[in-house]
Amino acid sequence: MYEGAVQDLIDELGRLPGVGPKSAQRIAFHVLAAEPADVERLADTLKRVKNEVKFCSVCGNVAEADTCRICLDPRRDPSVICVVEEPKDVVAIERTREFRGRYHVLGGAISPIDGVGPDDLRIRELMVRLRDDTITELILATDPNLEGEATATYLARLLKDLGITVTRLASGLPVGGDLEYADEVTLGRAFSGRRRMD
Ligand SMILES: [Zn+2]
Repeated sequence: MYEGAVQDLIDELGRLPGVGPKSAQRIAFHVLAAEPADVERLADTLKRVKNEVKFCSVCGNVAEADTCRICLDPRRDPSVICVVEEPKDVVAIERTREFRGRYHVLGGAISPIDGVGPDDLRIRELMVRLRDDTITELILATDPNLEGEATATYLARLLKDLGITVTRLASGLPVGGDLEYADEVTLGRAFSGRRRMD
């Protein structure tokens, strides 16, 4: 529809999650009208996020170094691990201030339709962590939707004989939704009311 770089930008923006064709066009023309220094800063930040941000070698959360800040924090309870799908879920749970343990980020959820199986998630890494017998409880905080539930059920079965208490966040979370969209109070309550999975 447009020529050259403008259309390329609209196409690239349109590939982002939650950005429809109209928004892509609006953002593209905003960038076109913006100060060169502002656009430069945006371009630099995009490059930096790919070059500098790493994933924690222990939990899979985003990190600036080999190990993330939460895994390095000696005040965090090493006996409890909360399993989530994405780094954004760590942020959502941190906001509730209900949890003082550590995390394990799976990098997604089991979804046969999207071709995501257990081997595509950081489940092997989780099993390695669980060899450490200071860990006594695992909280499954995958999203309250079909894929999240399938993942929680799969993990609960896998962990059954390890002698670790496996809990799932209590109901009250909007079913079919994403963990990150739950408000702090609801998510906090779901946390304190978590139930055992058997
Ligand atoms: Zn970590």
